[in-house]
Amino acid sequence: MAPPSEPRFRESVDRMFAKAVALMDLAPGLAEKIRVCNATYTVRFGVRLRGKIETFTGYRSVHSEHMEPVKGGIRYALAVSQDEVEALAALMTYKCALVEAPFGGSKGGLCIDPRAWDVHELEQITRRFAYELIKRDLISPSQNVPAPDMGTGAREMAWIADQYQRMHTTDINAHACVTGKPLNAGGISGRVEATGRGVQYALREFFRHPEDVARAGLSGLLDGKRAIVQGLGNVGYHAARFLSEEDGVRVIGVAEHDGGIWNPEGIDIEALRHWITANGGVQGFPGGTYLMDGAVLLEEDCDILIPAALEGVITRENAPRIRAPLIIEAANGPVTAGADHILSERGTVIIPDLYANAGGVTVSYFEWVKNLGHIRFGRMQRRQEEARHQLVVDELERLSHEMGNTWTLSPGFKERYLRGADELELVRSGLDDTMRTAYQSMREVWHGRPDVPDLRMAAYMVAIERVAASYHAKGL
Ligand code: GLU
Repeated sequence: MAPPSEPRFRESVDRMFAKAVALMDLAPGLAEKIRVCNATYTVRFGVRLRGKIETFTGYRSVHSEHMEPVKGGIRYALAVSQDEVEALAALMTYKCALVEAPFGGSKGGLCIDPRAWDVHELEQITRRFAYELIKRDLISPSQNVPAPDMGTGAREMAWIADQYQRMHTTDINAHACVTGKPLNAGGISGRVEATGRGVQYALREFFRHPEDVARAGLSGLLDGKRAIVQGLGNVGYHAARFLSEEDGVRVIGVAEHDGGIWNPEGIDIEALRHWITANGGVQGFPGGTYLMDGAVLLEEDCDILIPAALEGVITRENAPRIRAPLIIEAANGPVTAGADHILSERGTVIIPDLYANAGGVTVSYFEWVKNLGHIRFGRMQRRQEEARHQLVVDELERLSHEMGNTWTLSPGFKERYLRGADELELVRSGLDDTMRTAYQSMREVWHGRPDVPDLRMAAYMVAIERVAASYHAKGL
């Protein structure tokens, strides 16, 4: 008998949502209100390029406006579709609720192969797409705030911000219309690597709980674990680099679009990234064995599998062959609902996307607040911290004097202690705190109720509860 067909992305998210709702006690009809996508705008526009008019199709989907602005990236890829942006917008709603970023969920996409156009052409296309969205308040500091996603980055965000500014010359908050901007154009330190950093903090938090580690059939520390990463884009690269450089994780496999690299001794991530940039793919990289079919790496023996590229890569078909006992979803939706069921039955622990990749939007939130605050991020906190530290130093110096200067504070200590945290330190500690708190809230539900099968269900339940509470508070 042929296996049942794989659900589409949107359907996959809806199924997970429905499974969580079945474990909850929501007011009649509320689950449906939360589930549906409020609106999806489709735009087709022409840009004159290389002597002819090229037509592009783009989307911006608004899933839930229980909080505004709504938030979510803009993806550039040929496979972008309405189904995909709606699924991603829904995930944004739940993700923001889980990490308590005060936003509704949205997502955008443009059907384009960004590598097919040069920088100048991409700028024209991006500005035109942004113009269409800005005109309809689908980009706005108070209504809808995009960010980077697959195929876009700080450069595209700078074009979008500039386009908004041109169309709203008197808006004092114009900078806050988009996040993920370059540092010199209103961005924030640490945003580029934020999603990868979040994956690292999520794993660190998971390994702080031996009971949870044991549920995956693992033991001990994060240090020394073997990981396989799928996709060495912005998220996969930073996660792999931080985990291998700072946490002692051995990255033994990397799967990319043109194949995979395998090295049981551990792959030098920085060197591989340089190789990919210079050669367009992993083939020929001297630091490991090349495999033509990178996808087989998903099924290799390792402790932690990190899918960090596209949705739907672990399906009903390959799920039974996945050997990793722990999967962390650095990408959005890499495990389909069908695969999720198979893996969950088998006891594979999945740290779900809602939580695992929320580092990006968390730091986006800091950037948005920084832009609206019109003050260097953390300047107030820094001043307060410095004043508090000064009190301690004064007191210690008084004591030292009282004790006849038998001991003194070293100038090095004083200097370091008196200096408040800078922006990057604040971003990192804010992100770390967010990842710890969100994990605790999922964990309470996961361990607290015997009918909650896994972390994903716990994540959905926490998120849905919060969205529901916000609807109640609004009086809907
Ligand atoms: N595109 C990222 C995501 O999927 C970031 C969204 C944002 O920062 O608004 O979470």
